This record gives sequence, C-alpha cells and structure tokens, in this order.
Amino acid sequence: MKINYYQQSLQTLAELDPSQGKPTLLLHACCGPCAIWPIEFLLPYFQITILYNNSNIYPQTEYQRRLEELQRYLKRRNQTLDQPIELIVPPYDNAAYTAKLAPLKDEPERGKRCWLCYRLRIQEALRYAADHGFSYMTTVMTISRQKDSQVLNEIGAQLAQDFPSVRYFHSDFKKADGILKANALIRENHMYRQDYCGCVYSWTIRQAQKKVQGKLD
Ligand code: SF4
Repeated sequence: MKINYYQQSLQTLAELDPSQGKPTLLLHACCGPCAIWPIEFLLPYFQITILYNNSNIYPQTEYQRRLEELQRYLKRRNQTLDQPIELIVPPYDNAAYTAKLAPLKDEPERGKRCWLCYRLRIQEALRYAADHGFSYMTTVMTISRQKDSQVLNEIGAQLAQDFPSVRYFHSDFKKADGILKANALIRENHMYRQDYCGCVYSWTIRQAQKKVQGKLD
C-alpha cells in the first residue's frame, strides 16, 4: 500500500514547536530546478543548509553548470532572508561514483541503478548531517516525476536508522501542485533546466535520442 508522504510531511511540520525556534535541516539538492520549490516549502519551518553532493553527474561541465545555477539562485534568494541558506559542496568524484553504479549500468531509469544512486547520496547527506549536528535531513528528489517517492522515502527512513541523532523528513514535494509551483519559480528566475537525469548512462541515452532527433551538432 502506498504511503502518503505529503501528508506525513504536513504532520511533521504540525508537530514542530515554533517557540523553540527553527530546527536545522540539511537539504540534499541535485540542481536548482528541483530545489526551488522544496526550499520555499521548508523555509517557514527550518533553518536550511543545502548539500550539493552529486558526483553522479556526468560530465563535469554539467555538474558545474547545475551547481552554478543553484549558487546564482541562492545568492538572489538570500538577499531577502534574515538567516541565509548556506551551500555545502563536497568534493566531486564522478569516476569513483560511476564505478559503484557500473554493475547496474543496464538497469532502466527508475530501476535498481537509481535506487543505489538515491541511497549513495542520501547516505552521504545523513552522515554529513550527523557529523555536523543537524536535526533533520531530507532530499529534494521527491519533486521529480521521474523518481519514485515511495522508494526514496523508504531508503531515507531505513538509512536514518544508522544516524539516530538525525530525523529523516519524509516528503513528496510534487504533491499539492508542487510541480506547478516549481515551474512558475523556474520561469520567474530564468533557470537553466537540464534534459537528462545526471549519470553517464542517462547522458548516453539522451545523446542517442538527440542524434535521432537531429539535435546534435
Ligand atoms: S538516472 Fe539519475 S537517479 Fe538513476 S542512476 Fe542515473 S543519475 Fe542516478
């Protein structure tokens, strides 16, 4: 039976005690377009720090482009915030990351390779959150129609058992018109949107599609 993780997120927010101030939350963000609505959803309740841990992204120029787009947005957004959103960028190592995914390279998108990819990045973020005293951790990835929120939340909850000082914030950011709200913010901020998920395998498939469509130089 599917769990309504959007309702769970509302329940968690309702249980917060505003008189205690905003708890800290580490937000894993894979890119600006996916982060833009989750940031607005969470901002009234949490002091957010973003972790851009995305060694899955190939090639490095694309990793850098997505990072710079996120930095550009945060610089602008922070001008209107009393407590700015900090951005943490751990070292990028696509070769090591791809080696971990390689045994599952032939899996389709949304399959077992992607589950491992969610797991690697959520685990790294939970570890960072535990090491740096964050109260909550979550990922923006549930905003994506291409990603299974049930799987993402199950993985997050399971991994969080190894980090008892951190609460995993269950989410489904696409619900309650989350995607429409994200699209409006993306347009408003003239944000670059990538046309593939990230890893070399998704990049290769997209390149082949573009070739067929005559969109490659
Ligand atoms: S398609 Fe996306 S989620 Fe799946 S393995 Fe590649 S980068 Fe990770």
